Amino acid sequence: MRARTPCGDCQLCCQSTSVASLAPGEEQIYASEIHLGQLVIAKKTNGDCVYLNESGCSIHEDAPLACRKFDCAAMVKLKVRVGDEIYRRGKELLRQGHKPQLKKVAA
Ligand code: SF4
Ligand code: SF4
Repeated sequence: MRARTPCGDCQLCCQSTSVASLAPGEEQIYASEIHLGQLVIAKKTNGDCVYLNESGCSIHEDAPLACRKFDCAAMVKLKVRVGDEIYRRGKELLRQGHKPQLKKVAA
């Protein structure tokens, strides 16, 4: 099940500034690569996730755990360092009244 993050049209987590980690075993399911020694979802040459298309995530409900659980607003609350744009988006969601779940949030 997805985090209840109200992403709307935001795709920051799927674009070139972001790297989605894969949980052990998920490399059997998803296209993957190694980034700085970490197993991550594979990227296109422009840096975007290979599963991102014009209408958004092509695998949506079946996306990797990190994608389904990530909440940029929780990262702001938990003071976890993320990219500037994602941090700003998290702050925006908090201003809009979004209340993130602060337990079991995967970065
Ligand atoms: S930055 Fe926040 S709103 Fe945007 S895609 Fe990521 S989790 Fe969703
Ligand atoms: S799998 Fe989907 S949600 Fe996850 S980074 Fe790729 S496009 Fe985004």
